[in-house]
Amino acid sequence: MKFGTKAIHAGVEPDPSTGAIMTPIYQTSTYVQKSPGDHKGYEYSRTHNPTRTALQNALAELENGKHGLCFASGMAAIDAIIKMLKPGDEVISTNDLYGGSYRIFTKIFQNYGIKFHFTDMSDLSKVEALVNENTRMIWVETPTNPLLNIIDIKGCAAISKKHNLLLVADNTFATPYLQNPLDLGADIVMHSLTKYMAGHSDVVMGAVIVKDDELHEKLAFIQNACGGTPGPQDCFLVLRGIKTLHIRMERHCENGRAVAQYLINHPKVEKVLWPGLPDHPSHQIAKEQMRSYGGMVSFALKGDRMEDAIATLERFRYFSLAESLGGVESLCGHPASMTHASIPSAERLKAGLSDSLIRLSVGIEDIEDLLADLEQAIG
Ligand SMILES: *Cc1c(COP(=O)(O)O)cnc(C)c1O
Repeated sequence: MKFGTKAIHAGVEPDPSTGAIMTPIYQTSTYVQKSPGDHKGYEYSRTHNPTRTALQNALAELENGKHGLCFASGMAAIDAIIKMLKPGDEVISTNDLYGGSYRIFTKIFQNYGIKFHFTDMSDLSKVEALVNENTRMIWVETPTNPLLNIIDIKGCAAISKKHNLLLVADNTFATPYLQNPLDLGADIVMHSLTKYMAGHSDVVMGAVIVKDDELHEKLAFIQNACGGTPGPQDCFLVLRGIKTLHIRMERHCENGRAVAQYLINHPKVEKVLWPGLPDHPSHQIAKEQMRSYGGMVSFALKGDRMEDAIATLERFRYFSLAESLGGVESLCGHPASMTHASIPSAERLKAGLSDSLIRLSVGIEDIEDLLADLEQAIG
């Protein structure tokens, strides 16, 4: 099956009891047994639920994996992955990481004796230099937020194989439409399904996808034992969302390109970050690793004044000022005062996260309207 066919057909079967073409929302907590242990594979909905099973199977196929596991949020998925580790274990990750991941690593799991290293992963020798006998995991996120840097997944996989580590890839920004980390050598793919996968800004959910049976067993044990599972209604919404993933992504990529091109020619714009631009620092890796470049675009204004960025954000009509990304509607955000406000300003600036940086999640509206909105908002 090619990708679009998979997006529509993967994991779902007509409902066995009625033939319903859409997997029903099995809004039930428990399942009747004929005799103790004599049941149809379902005992309790924290452990298994048919609507969730359909979604998990669909996700496994889309990522070219074997097993999918869904969680109540992207953070709950991250939580389950790190719970495979023990005190004393070490993780190497990027210094340009989703804020929530950085927070759970440093404010929660560090207290349980797990050590996290953050480094510039565009230089793989820096990654390998941090490996020691306690290292268990490399955690990659690519493209990164909001600088849209691209990390070489294959390169990280070579290091993780050599030292017998687990390689995890947060594939939220790219989605399986743009890249399949398992094919590039990752052991575990993680998603915030909240973003592009569900795609309609109406659900919060996360997922983990693996090929390996033993890894699946460990993660499924944690999923059930710790209980961070989603409800069937939300699983239904994500199942519906992924049926249009390929056509949404195609338009996100097209609109992203048009917006990036418009911005590089704008006299008030200082720089534009979009991995599809030939002068983007990791364009070459993006070209090799991704099928296209996505709909996330960041840009900074000339003069780099925070008040100019804020005034621009207030003027947008179709780009709504909000956290999150990946929905059909365009969103805009100001990392310096919103998602990355907790980082001291000197550190922020050093990382390239300037005061006037605006992040756009370019939606799938008509591009003429989006460009007109940029025109009037930037002025
Ligand atoms: C949003 C996000 C998460 C967290 O997911 P939630 O569904 O909000 O819990 C993790 N990683 C990335 C890259 C994200 O954008």
